[in-house]
Amino acid sequence: MGQGVLTPRGAADVEALLADAGLERRAGSLVMADVPLTAVAEAVGTPAYVYNAESIRARYAALDAALSAIPHRICYAVKANGNLAVLRLLHELGAGADIVSAGELARARAAGFPAERVVFSGVGKSAEELREAAAAGVGHINVESAEELELLASVAAEAGRRVSVGIRVNPDVTADTHPYISTGKSGIKFGVPTDQVVDAARFIAAQRELELTSIAMHLGSQLTDTGPFQEGIQRLLALVAEVRTAGITSVKVLDVGGGLGIRYGAETPMDPAAFAAAVVPLMASSGLTLYVEPGRFLVGSAGVLLTSVLFRKHSGGKSFVIVDAGMNDLVRPSHYHAYHEIVELEAAGRPVGPVDVVGPVCETGDFLALDRPLPALERGERVAVLGAGAYGFVMASSYNARPRPPEVMVDAGRFAVARPREEVAELFRGERSTPLG
Ligand SMILES: *Cc1c(COP(=O)(O)O)cnc(C)c1O
Repeated sequence: MGQGVLTPRGAADVEALLADAGLERRAGSLVMADVPLTAVAEAVGTPAYVYNAESIRARYAALDAALSAIPHRICYAVKANGNLAVLRLLHELGAGADIVSAGELARARAAGFPAERVVFSGVGKSAEELREAAAAGVGHINVESAEELELLASVAAEAGRRVSVGIRVNPDVTADTHPYISTGKSGIKFGVPTDQVVDAARFIAAQRELELTSIAMHLGSQLTDTGPFQEGIQRLLALVAEVRTAGITSVKVLDVGGGLGIRYGAETPMDPAAFAAAVVPLMASSGLTLYVEPGRFLVGSAGVLLTSVLFRKHSGGKSFVIVDAGMNDLVRPSHYHAYHEIVELEAAGRPVGPVDVVGPVCETGDFLALDRPLPALERGERVAVLGAGAYGFVMASSYNARPRPPEVMVDAGRFAVARPREEVAELFRGERSTPLG
């Protein structure tokens, strides 16, 4: 899938992408939830991330409604976008949280999530992280190996805390996505192999402080097909039956992970109704509660990265547009060769030609788009990079000593800074130029 990403497989459906983001054109100006994005850029500068609260709400509501026939909980995957304003919004909608570190636990709790609504996932939790999660009373700790399970047993015994445990299974299901974000196939680092699940369940049942409450999987990210979910759920249900046959009847939750795909270019995104149609019939007679852990699906389309054109130049037969957002701000194009649509904030009906949109970072891999047909942009003009709400700011770094951009929330005609632009002084706070005296 390395191909077809920097350039979409078909023509990107820009109208559909704008609709997904809750964006519209009014007299050429790009408007999000009644706020012209040019006004946001003028207020906070560029680069800047902007999130549309209305479109996050709409996504949550669509998925929640689609699953209404069965008991379910939507646990938002904090790693997709951990901004407290985003977390607060999802918490208020009724979501739980899926976390992968003690840092995310702290974020989720700071945003108001009660610990019992948190699922702790991740292949490499430290003893300290397990201690913090047990002490907080996290809803489910999903373990991924026999050794982690032993550590969790000793942590829980030491703390004298009862802990609800999920077994994250590797169901050995192939999902068609980028290899870096395919996580449910055997031979990769994630999950407990199916043939070790009953033993793990027996071990849990034998510990006074542990209770097996969930069987879980996570197949990968940016999945656009429901087939892998169906296959995976069938394998998990078979395992629940095996565990019950072994006399362990405490499992109440089937956790199918996240991975619901969105539209970045020409792909067909996961439709909540199609997802529900695939999942609900399998779950209906199980008596289990469905947990689903979407990250990207809830917030990906709702976010844009605003950036300004610094310079243009022609070199080696190519045209370059140099913008003020780099790979440190949005790493997905260089890391996954991900396609992100780029649109003008003020459309002017100019001729279109292919350009490389590149950032200021001192790496040739620092690009947002290659050979992209774009209108002839002028210096100082601004564009929006679409689909930047998930795995955008959270993966930003300060490489090249570039402060991380601000995050702005837009809702019903108003906008406010949810996180200010990082200051240069923050980049070396705590550093010592003479640590040895
Ligand atoms: C990353 C992750 C998710 C969220 O993935 P998305 O593709 O953003 O939906 C959910 N569950 C687990 C365990 C994860 O690691």
